[in-house]
Amino acid sequence: MTDVLRDWHAELGPWLADFYRDLHRHPELSLREHRTAGKIAEAVQGFELTTGVGGTGVVGVLRNGDGPTVMLRADIDALPMAEKTGLPYASTDPEAMHACGHDMHATCLLGAATLLNRARDTWSGTLLVVFQPAEETAQGARAMIADGLFERFGKPDIVLGQHVGPLPAGMVGYASGPTMAAVDGLNVTLHGRGGHGSRPQSTVDPVLMAAHVVTRLQGIVAREVTPSETAVLTVGKLHAGTKDNIIPDTAELGVNLRSYSTETRDLMRAAVERVVRAEAAASGAVKEPEFDWYMSAPVVVNDPEATATTVAAFTGHFGAERMLPMPVVTGSEDVGIFGEAAGVPTVFWFWGGLERDMVLAAIANNTINSLPSNHTSDFAPLIEPTLQTGVEALVVAALTWLGKG
Ligand code: ZN
Ligand code: ZN
Repeated sequence: MTDVLRDWHAELGPWLADFYRDLHRHPELSLREHRTAGKIAEAVQGFELTTGVGGTGVVGVLRNGDGPTVMLRADIDALPMAEKTGLPYASTDPEAMHACGHDMHATCLLGAATLLNRARDTWSGTLLVVFQPAEETAQGARAMIADGLFERFGKPDIVLGQHVGPLPAGMVGYASGPTMAAVDGLNVTLHGRGGHGSRPQSTVDPVLMAAHVVTRLQGIVAREVTPSETAVLTVGKLHAGTKDNIIPDTAELGVNLRSYSTETRDLMRAAVERVVRAEAAASGAVKEPEFDWYMSAPVVVNDPEATATTVAAFTGHFGAERMLPMPVVTGSEDVGIFGEAAGVPTVFWFWGGLERDMVLAAIANNTINSLPSNHTSDFAPLIEPTLQTGVEALVVAALTWLGKG
C-alpha cells in the first residue's frame, strides 16, 4: 500500500510547502475563498474538476474502474482576526488569518490527490476530493450538499477528513464514536431606551442589561447541565454604544454553545432564551429581545468499525508511537453533515502541528492550556513534519477504503 509513499516527499514536499505558504499569506473568509479555490483548481491534476460548488467549493472526481467511492474532505476558509505570528509568510490581510490551519488541510489534500492520481494502477474505484468552503460558519457542508454534491459527483461509501491542532507534530490523534461537539451560534439583540449618560432615569440601559445577561448565562452550564455532560457556553461578542456619555438603544451579544447530546443541546438553547428574556424583563426593557440562531452543526460521530480499520492502517504506516488516543474535544466541525446526509460512515482524525518538545514539556508541567492553539493570533503549525504527516494520513486512509488495483 505504501509504495506510493516511498520517497515522495523529497520531490513534492518543497512544492507543497510553497503552496501552503501562499495560501497562508492570502487567507480568505468564509464563502469568499475565490483566490484560494482558483489556486486549488489550478494545482489539482488528473481529476475532473468543478469549481463554485456550494458557493466557493472545489470538487475533483477521479473515476478509476469498479470499486468503492471514497471522499476526502478538506476545508479552506480563514478567520476574521489579525495574525501576530511574525512569520515571514504571515497574512497580508490585517483582517484575516488562517488561524485554524485550513490552509494546511487544503495543501495536504492537494498532496494526497496528486499522489493518488500518480498511483492509479494500485487502486480501483472512485476518488472524490472535496475542498469545502465556509467551515468556520458551519455553512459550507450544507451549501455543497444543497448544490447537488452527491447527485452531481456521486455518493461516497465513506467520508474521510482531518484537522490539524496543538498535538506534537508528526502525531495522529484519534477517537471513536462521538468525537467533536455539536455547535450552535446565536446573536441576541437587547432593546433598551437610549439617552444622555447624565440622566439614566430617563433611559432603559441595555449595557447594564447585557452585563447581567453575560454573568447569568454562566449559570447554565454550572447549575443546569448534568455535571457528567460535556457542555460549553461562551459569550464571544458583546457590542453596545459609541461614547461614554451616551446610553445606547441596543446591545448585541454573540453566544456560542457546545454540547454532546440532543437533551443537553435543547436544555441549553431553552435556558439561554429564558435567561435573556428574564433579564430584559428585570431591566424594564421596552421591547422583547431578538434571537437569531444563525448557525449550527451536529456532533461529529466517528463510525467505530470504520475508525478501528483506519486507525489500524495508520498504526501500520506511522507506528504505534505516533498514534495518540484523544479525549472528548469541545471543538466542532461541519464535516459530520456529509456522512449524515449520505448515510455513510465518517472517520475524522486530528494531527499535530506543534514542536514536539514544547508539547511534551507542557504536558509534563501541566501547562497544556497555554500552548498556541487554533483560533489564536499566534497559531502557527510547523510546516514539516506536519505537511508530510497530513498527506500520508490521507493517502493511507484513502487506500484503506478504495479497491485494490
Ligand atoms: Zn476553526
Ligand atoms: Zn478548523
